[in-house]
Amino acid sequence: MKDEKCIFCKIANGEIPTNSIYEDEDFNVILDNGPATAGHALILPKEHYANLYELPEDTAAKAMKLAKKVALRLKAVMHCDGLNLVQNNGEVAGQTVNHFHLHVIPRYENDGQTILWKPTEPDDAQLREICANLKMN
Ligand code: 5GP
Ligand code: ZN
Repeated sequence: MKDEKCIFCKIANGEIPTNSIYEDEDFNVILDNGPATAGHALILPKEHYANLYELPEDTAAKAMKLAKKVALRLKAVMHCDGLNLVQNNGEVAGQTVNHFHLHVIPRYENDGQTILWKPTEPDDAQLREICANLKMN
């Protein structure tokens, strides 16, 4: 399904011109137009899924396989020193476009970016309670 009002649906499906570095049946990989660093790429499924919660598992798996290919390409061509995968869900987490996308962000020594979080210091009891609530198997 496509969403007629979604800009990433239009970009991913070639209705709006963009700087695409890869395309296949399921995905388009484009350059972010407000890049954190040189080579910052976005992996976009061609179908509309608002976020990770809506993304089918097989598409999620394909997106991660593609991220690995893009990472290797960025390393080989851009000679980055490191790389972040970032994927935002919900406004509070920084999502600004409600069409699932995976950021592949090459990192360079002294690139001036800060993509990491500030660690907090929960006590053992809090961690144990959260762990018990989250147990999945
Ligand atoms: P989010 O904040 O939702 O995780 O990321 C959205 C990203 O999409 C931002 O990094 C922003 O620069 C990028 N972006 C937004 N609109 C466009 C567009 O029209 N073209 C391209 N290439 N990137 C876009
Ligand atoms: Zn869309």
